[in-house]
Amino acid sequence: MNDAKGLKKYLAVLGAFALLGLSGCGQEQTAETDSSVQETTEQTSEAVVEETTEAATEAYLDYENQDEWDFESGEMQSPINIETSAAEAMVEDGSLTLDYAEEIIDVVDNGHSIEIEDGGQATIAGRSFELAQFHLHSPSEHTVDGESFPIELHFVHKAQDGRLAVIAVFFKEGTENAAFQAILDDVQANEESDVASGLSLNVAELLPANKSYYHYLGSLTTPPLTENVEWYVMANPVEVSAEQIAAFNEYYEGNNREVQPLGERSVLKYEE
Ligand SMILES: [Zn+2]
Repeated sequence: MNDAKGLKKYLAVLGAFALLGLSGCGQEQTAETDSSVQETTEQTSEAVVEETTEAATEAYLDYENQDEWDFESGEMQSPINIETSAAEAMVEDGSLTLDYAEEIIDVVDNGHSIEIEDGGQATIAGRSFELAQFHLHSPSEHTVDGESFPIELHFVHKAQDGRLAVIAVFFKEGTENAAFQAILDDVQANEESDVASGLSLNVAELLPANKSYYHYLGSLTTPPLTENVEWYVMANPVEVSAEQIAAFNEYYEGNNREVQPLGERSVLKYEE
């Protein structure tokens, strides 16, 4: 009975020590904790204390206080700046097969973007995702070697297990894009109405013919900024006209989140 009580107390102290260790405290605090450990474990020899406390900082888990466990978050945010010279060649076959529906469910001005509700399938490196919607940001959220683009389109997908994958496409100034024009016309025509428009559109025109991309693990770029989102940023932009960029910017300009630190993450490059 007494032994069990003593052990519990000892573990509690070690738990506190583990928390201090994780918070990255300096030498002084470590010394303080050492002496308090020794005080409360008079029966234990010094050698054992040293051995156990060393383990405590590395692997000790206090299963009695799981709500106090430290966990990392905020280290895998999006968007990022893609440094092309630092991208590693992807080892696996990352080929994309995109089969998006041409019959659009609805075009919605959701208060922070123009969002197109659409269905369809994406097969990414052999795994199946369902298209949920696509929407646009101006200027682009991702940058490439520090350069931003006038518009960035996000195709948002979900797998059966809930995993999210976003395929991003940059729009650059060039010739007019028929599919983008159909979206702009639909937004204009339906500004006052909630009725689904029955729009039909060749979604392939919103994607580059060559589907080489940069891949990394990031987050949603709007709250709740959920992490572990797979990003596939198309290396080749799609052209839209200067008039079309101006027309979109009448609705939204500046709905781009700032680039976030890459940290320890890798950016992979897949060449089609
Ligand atoms: Zn987005």
